[in-house]
Amino acid sequence: MEKTVPMRRCVGCGASYPKKELLRVVRTPEGDVVLDATGKRNGRGAYVCRSSECFRTARKKRRFATNLGAEIPEELLDGLEREIAAFEKEASPSR
Ligand SMILES: [Zn+2]
Repeated sequence: MEKTVPMRRCVGCGASYPKKELLRVVRTPEGDVVLDATGKRNGRGAYVCRSSECFRTARKKRRFATNLGAEIPEELLDGLEREIAAFEKEASPSR
């Protein structure tokens, strides 16, 4: 039997990928915006590739503010960008 893979769209490049291959940025009910490595945190989320390039594109186009429904401080975005760059380094070479 075929298993359905949940797909999500990257807010940077706009392409769809299996959810588990993307990184989730979530706005928690407390109003924090964090990188959700587990994909299980409560809150409104936006998905982005494990790519600083996609992150920067999304940031420039203000996609995080739009998708998360809140203004996000620049220093917070700087922090997320650093975290995503770290994930990018350990990304599997199969992609
Ligand atoms: Zn992307």
